[in-house]
Amino acid sequence: MAEPTQAQSAADSPTAYGWCAWHDNFARGVRLIGVHEQSSGSGGGVFACRTCREVYDLVPLADQP
Ligand SMILES: [Zn+2]
Repeated sequence: MAEPTQAQSAADSPTAYGWCAWHDNFARGVRLIGVHEQSSGSGGGVFACRTCREVYDLVPLADQP
């Protein structure tokens, strides 16, 4: 079952499955975008899926200078 995709490069795509903090749901291919520093509650890393990274122009932490 092929999904309609917009020119995806298969090269750089770790297929991690996790929570996308941008569209508030689980997704495949999430990348760590940043770390929330919270004194209480669920602090930690925030992840975004590929679609949200493209829509919101997010750069994964590992890809930042
Ligand atoms: Zn998303």
